[in-house]
Amino acid sequence: MTIGKYTLHQIDSGFFALDGGAMFGIIPKPLWTKTNIADDRNRIKLTTRNLLLVNDSRKILIDTGMGQKWDKKSKDIYAIDQTESELTNSLQFLGIEPEDITDVLLTHLHFDHTGGSTVLRNNKLEPAFPNASYYVQEQNFEWAQHSTERDKGSYIKENFEILAKEGLLKVLKGNVEKLDEEISIVRVNGHTRGQQLFHLHDSSTNLLYCADILPTAGHLPLQYIPGYDLQPLITLQERKLLWKKAAEEDWFLFLEHDPENCCIKIESTEDGYLVAEQYDRLP
Ligand SMILES: [Zn+2]
Repeated sequence: MTIGKYTLHQIDSGFFALDGGAMFGIIPKPLWTKTNIADDRNRIKLTTRNLLLVNDSRKILIDTGMGQKWDKKSKDIYAIDQTESELTNSLQFLGIEPEDITDVLLTHLHFDHTGGSTVLRNNKLEPAFPNASYYVQEQNFEWAQHSTERDKGSYIKENFEILAKEGLLKVLKGNVEKLDEEISIVRVNGHTRGQQLFHLHDSSTNLLYCADILPTAGHLPLQYIPGYDLQPLITLQERKLLWKKAAEEDWFLFLEHDPENCCIKIESTEDGYLVAEQYDRLP
């Protein structure tokens, strides 16, 4: 897929799993298991699917997956599996080395979105992409450092502090609406504070990198909101606006966590929003 001057590549960076109940909030299990099967520990399988935008001068990566800095116990809890796909390998498959990445756009600093932003080399924590500028919303960076008892487990400082220390972190103010002609920022605050989604567009194609406002296709019904969300009624409002636009304007919704579907298109029906088209790979 190309959008404007950019060629897009899907970057698979691994699998993990989270509790299905936590992922579907108030929705009863008999309903959410219709789309997302639970394992014997009630976890649903998730992927970390990132996106790479390439043009003559820039190689832009959106989110970085879980990364490699996990101990044995956490690997087991989150069923982390990077044997089939891993961030650095997936980039190298396209002939891209970590040094080549010019920009890393981080939707937010939860560990499954920025885990691969830093690496341990000889027991020393380093930025994984040494020549890149990393972008995050100011509000999310502030929140990540002062999160609450309820959500502090999702923010691991090893995944972002060093980026700021080394001057690689570009903290975006709320008034920045575009990063380039084709890359607009959509700020949402229901899931955490200052999550940024990326709306990629040219005259013929729209694609929204949905991050955690739509983790999997199974989360499409407006009320199927993860229990992790700090402000679910804000999420609901944000979804209403975005789903309407996506249905009316035929957007690709790029799903970061859906192990089956890379993208979907949606339609508005009497029964609510439904999947109209699904793509297991980026078309
Ligand atoms: Zn998140």
